[in-house]
Amino acid sequence: MAVSSLNNKSLIVHGPILEYILEENAYPKEHEQLKELREITVKKYEKKSVMNVPVDEAQFLSMLLKIMNAKKTMEIGVFTGYSLLATALALPDDGQITAIDLDIEAYETGLPFIQKAGVEHKINFIQSDAFVVLNDLINGEEKSSFDFIFVDAQKEDNMKFHEKVMELVKMGGIIAYDNTLWLGSVAYKQHEYEKHSKMPESVWRNRDYVIRFNSFLASNPQIESSVLSIGDGLTLCRRLY
Ligand code: SAH
Ligand code: CA
Repeated sequence: MAVSSLNNKSLIVHGPILEYILEENAYPKEHEQLKELREITVKKYEKKSVMNVPVDEAQFLSMLLKIMNAKKTMEIGVFTGYSLLATALALPDDGQITAIDLDIEAYETGLPFIQKAGVEHKINFIQSDAFVVLNDLINGEEKSSFDFIFVDAQKEDNMKFHEKVMELVKMGGIIAYDNTLWLGSVAYKQHEYEKHSKMPESVWRNRDYVIRFNSFLASNPQIESSVLSIGDGLTLCRRLY
């Protein structure tokens, strides 16, 4: 039951394996407020709730942030705040997250759970188009200062985001791009994919952006990158220079 509709459509990880990961590993240790936030998101947003990262991916991000000792992070694309709350829980008490989204109503849906978890003080939510904030930060004193940046907004903007966030992440810092396997569609020809999965036309439209961006990252000498088949695909990039 807990496997989301996105996961059911996904050809990234074989169904029974994904169910095993979620049911036997990830859900049993999900933080109480993350669970509440996830449930209210499903109730209010129904199908759109798949925009929240799945539980296993959030647990991976949490562990990564702790291994890195991340303190200053950014999230571009918050929605109701599942990945944001997971990040806030993973950072030390004086950690800071710049969280940007145009949609304040979605953020306010998750906010009571962030408050209940006692981590709101780590979050600076900015209701804005992310490009405005990124340009302000670049023109301010924030260049090369972020340990970690999670990019999870409109996929067709990733190329433009990359240029900006590379200026803001510090040397050796991590930029993580979400949904880089795009339900597995990037690896299939359309007719092969349709044999396995009913996919809305919009997925095929955006697939080209995702493929182009992935190949840009794979051949970019300024970063070391790694594509993880977790969630809907997560690409980690480490800034080299
Ligand atoms: N990271 C969240 C999900 C984000 S969904 C999680 O995993 O829980 C994508 C969000 O990006 C949407 O809420 C949308 O409003 C926001 N978004 C899209 N384009 C944007 C832009 N240019 N600036 C700011 N937010 C944007
Ligand atoms: Ca996402």
